[in-house]
Amino acid sequence: MQKGNIGVTTENIFPVIKKFLYSDHEIFLRELVSNAVDATQKLKTFASMGEFKEELGDLTVRIALDKETITVSDKGIGMTAEEIDKYINQIAFSGANDFLEKYKNDANAIIGHFGLGFYSAFMVAKKVEIVTKSYKEGAQAVKWTCDGSPEFTIENVDKAERGTDIILYVDDDCKEFLEESRISGLLTKYCRFLPVPIAFGKKKEWKDGKQVETSEDNVINDVNPLWKRTPSELKDEDYKEFYRKLYPMSDEPLFWIHLNVDYPFHLTGVLYFPKIKNNIELTKNKIQLYCNQVYVTDSVDGIVPDFLTLLHGVLDSPDIPLNVSRSYLQSDSNVKKISTYITKKVSDRLNDIFKKDRKQFEEKWDDLKIFMDYGMLTQDDFYQRAKDFALFTDTDGEKFTYGEYKTLIKDNQTDKEGNLIYLYANNKEEQYSYINAAKNKGYSVLLMDGQLDIAVVSMLEQKFEKCRFTRVDSDIIDNLIVKEEKKIDVLEATKQSALTEIFKSQLPKIDKVEFNVMTAAMGEAGDPLLLTQSEYMRRMKEMANIQAGMSFYGEMPDMFNLMLNTDHSLIKEVISDEESQCAEALFPILAEITEVEAQRSSIKDSQKGKKEEDIPQAEKDTLSDLDKRLDNLNGQKNKVFADYAANNQIIRQLIDLALLQNGMLKGEALTNFVKRSLKLIK
Ligand code: ADP
Repeated sequence: MQKGNIGVTTENIFPVIKKFLYSDHEIFLRELVSNAVDATQKLKTFASMGEFKEELGDLTVRIALDKETITVSDKGIGMTAEEIDKYINQIAFSGANDFLEKYKNDANAIIGHFGLGFYSAFMVAKKVEIVTKSYKEGAQAVKWTCDGSPEFTIENVDKAERGTDIILYVDDDCKEFLEESRISGLLTKYCRFLPVPIAFGKKKEWKDGKQVETSEDNVINDVNPLWKRTPSELKDEDYKEFYRKLYPMSDEPLFWIHLNVDYPFHLTGVLYFPKIKNNIELTKNKIQLYCNQVYVTDSVDGIVPDFLTLLHGVLDSPDIPLNVSRSYLQSDSNVKKISTYITKKVSDRLNDIFKKDRKQFEEKWDDLKIFMDYGMLTQDDFYQRAKDFALFTDTDGEKFTYGEYKTLIKDNQTDKEGNLIYLYANNKEEQYSYINAAKNKGYSVLLMDGQLDIAVVSMLEQKFEKCRFTRVDSDIIDNLIVKEEKKIDVLEATKQSALTEIFKSQLPKIDKVEFNVMTAAMGEAGDPLLLTQSEYMRRMKEMANIQAGMSFYGEMPDMFNLMLNTDHSLIKEVISDEESQCAEALFPILAEITEVEAQRSSIKDSQKGKKEEDIPQAEKDTLSDLDKRLDNLNGQKNKVFADYAANNQIIRQLIDLALLQNGMLKGEALTNFVKRSLKLIK
């Protein structure tokens, strides 16, 4: 028997491994099984090169459990005593301490960097044995034993068959790894697509109400997974079946892309466009990353662009550096190339479907939209490709490419400054009357009700030249697209202020809502009252909801414009009725206002050109008295209007109808409205 020290510069590397790699203990199994698979693949290569001439025999890798141990056995190339010394004992270690300190939270980094794959066994084992016999002719089988200290022993043993058994004496605090279900779960997670059969015990069947073992190996993997196969051999059903295997609970995918590149990097895989039922689904199923068919992780951030993480499927590449920190990943040139390649493939595939089968593309658009939007918003190279096949949907459900839509609205929806105005709604039901008004004008209205549409609207305004997006309810129809100089409001100022005052006095108090009452000539056929909300203010609030640091806007009340249509017969009636009803009460007030204003302006005139300090205090006091009187008189005037309005059922009714049309009439106000309506009918 031979004894020695493992060639690491850090004396107690094993406690370090254990401590720092705690969270990722389970990967020991992946490491050992992939070593076994590598050894088997190497033997196959030697056989195909004629270097190994004997029968290969059954090459299944076997995992076995008993009370204390886990054994991983292969029929691969095995190792001689010299090879154990070279590959296992002399593990190259430089600056180990520094490195461990730096990456203590990232087990993959340490393990991959140092070729510590095999040593990860010590994360769960108090003692490890390697019993191995090399494929070389006349090789002597050897047993290597190590109990987790840097000391090991190596001795000659008898072993009938070529290959390696790795035997782990499981540590007391890792007993979970002796449970069949735990190991079975890990094998499915990490090894289900390895290229050599992996058997975990025997298949079981039900017999006389009991589960009994059969003689058949329980092979847990598919040695030739779909993504490694030639696309031309595969049918749609094969892709769907593979998808079900990966994500058993999900709906059928919309489309898929088979990736296969050899140069300048190796990448294979299949990406699926999922049918998106809800957000939870979105984040639950993830792209799985493999390295030569060994499962590595399902966190692909940094490797594929963000928006592609919405896709499902498998990526397999030995060229993705898995053993580095995420921040390093993003600067790796291979990773950049891979990410660019995938983006291009994805857009090419979509473009292809769009061109070849527009109908299918349109049918699936609603599911694709969020993915497309996300991509266009976050990756300019994707936008540049996608802009040719991204679709708009109008409120009638018809779909257009950006180009087609521009042509459609160009003639009728260009304003006097030459801006193309895209009208949109984000709720077909709530904005029904506005949409209708726009349609009656011959305008087209887009439906922008997607989760990302607020951001998409801003993006497109920047990308498209000379254009603006305006929600249909953001202004009266004539102002949505201003084509010629505005019509001047024919109503004289005093009538205007009387009218707005009357309506203002009857507006209900609604929490966090403010109204600005205005008059406009909106045509005899237009609504008597119209509630609009400025595009700018509404967008600021919407952005505040999705962006940090804008809470100032979020706190602000919702500001609505209440437009009184001075062309409408009901409004005209209010004007003339008010004039006759209020005249008497207003007469003395107005007379006094005229008088006070005259006094005020004569004082103001006399002060013109004088410096502040040259004006006598008495004069200043008189002015401020006059101002107070004016305020008071205006108050009295408004009270006359308010008293009149309070007794006018029609005004209340008109206001309530406008609120009702916008879903803002609720609670007591709604009940009162219904009561009042009933009275009016009688
Ligand atoms: P890596 O696999 O990254 O090289 P490991 O620490 O896992 O690092 O293994 C070190 C070396 O030990 C391998 O490169 C291989 O030469 C040898 N080895 C490990 N396991 C086996 C095995 N089951 N059969 C043959 N050789 C093995």
